[in-house]
Amino acid sequence: MKSSEFIIKDSSGARTVPVDAITFLQGNVEWNRVSFCIQNGKILSSELRNDPAKFFVTPGFVNCHMHWLMLGEPTLERELALMKNGPDEFIDIIVENARSTVLKGITACCDKGPPGLETRRIYQGLKTAKSRGLPVPKTLVSTWTTSVDGAFASPLSRRVYNQNELEQVIRELQETDAGIMKIIPESGLRLTQCTYDWVFPEQYFAVAREMTARLGLILAIHAKGYESIGMGLKYSVDCIEHATGASVTQLKEMQSKGIYLSPTLEGLWSRLNYAISSGSGAATAAFEWGNVTAMFRNAVVLNDGKPFTHFLFGSDAGSACTPHASLRELSLMRKLGLPAEYCLQAAMVNGARFMRLHRSIGQLTPGYCADMIFWHRNPLELDVAAWEHLEQYIAAVMLDGNLIEP
Ligand SMILES: [Zn+2]
Repeated sequence: MKSSEFIIKDSSGARTVPVDAITFLQGNVEWNRVSFCIQNGKILSSELRNDPAKFFVTPGFVNCHMHWLMLGEPTLERELALMKNGPDEFIDIIVENARSTVLKGITACCDKGPPGLETRRIYQGLKTAKSRGLPVPKTLVSTWTTSVDGAFASPLSRRVYNQNELEQVIRELQETDAGIMKIIPESGLRLTQCTYDWVFPEQYFAVAREMTARLGLILAIHAKGYESIGMGLKYSVDCIEHATGASVTQLKEMQSKGIYLSPTLEGLWSRLNYAISSGSGAATAAFEWGNVTAMFRNAVVLNDGKPFTHFLFGSDAGSACTPHASLRELSLMRKLGLPAEYCLQAAMVNGARFMRLHRSIGQLTPGYCADMIFWHRNPLELDVAAWEHLEQYIAAVMLDGNLIEP
């Protein structure tokens, strides 16, 4: 697709062809026939038009739960070996994942922490690629995940053993430009009892909440069990990841406290499919998939039939068996009953607000980043079956005012 089909250059900058721009204002979806004037990567102005629109346009999507430093392999061995023995090769793979992610319309991401600890160099590689003009989504990073002995995936996390160490970790997060702290405070599934154990000392948790708030870091927790979700509520974290065991009462409390939820349906769905085909781990994967779908269906009708208000698009890209550059999370949300406009809202304004970037991304208004998806068809008018191939309706993606060549 030639860029002349999307933009016209004139002396004031680049101007898009007439489009039907889809945005959310005060929670209502609107579309306007406009052309945008773009300068220095930003929307300078938008001009109302009457001529027939060539494309529909939405803001770029925000994937709020993903892992750049994981490649979606069933086990982490290859990734850890590459990270250690072939860091340059590893960076090349990540830069390519970033490019294909942008081509699917995902122009901002929240990275919930890598496996392993010596990872700053690799994140730096991604920043360098961006500074060289390669397409890399805007990314907030949790430089490590933080946990204690006994927590899920703790060997790959930064474990703390006393309060001083915890405070040190949080200071280092800030020094390494992390925008977010991610804690894993519970064990993996204990299949015999169907429970997850809270293993993080509550005092540490209180300190983490106080310090992250004071330093301006977002606080997210991995929480599948009832108890961990309860702790997330008690301390008003900013986001609960997975939340597979959340009750209706807990969902209502999350909503009233403005706590975001990324259900990571795609990650759980991908692991279920892998477990069935490989014949290992099927009981755990089926339990978690069953829980998340039940929780999600409750959330979809939480407010007298209207959905929970703080959904995020968070696919868990990069985690075991879960690909990068995928929009399957959105099609699963839709398939489980969330109407199209709420799926888009999760992927656009909600993600931008969660990342505290809502004054620069997630909307198509003057002053905002020119991060846009050009669509052949209006995604709001596509049915559930079409959403399974949503990417087929993407005509082009613009990141910071540049059309990204496939
Ligand atoms: Zn994850």
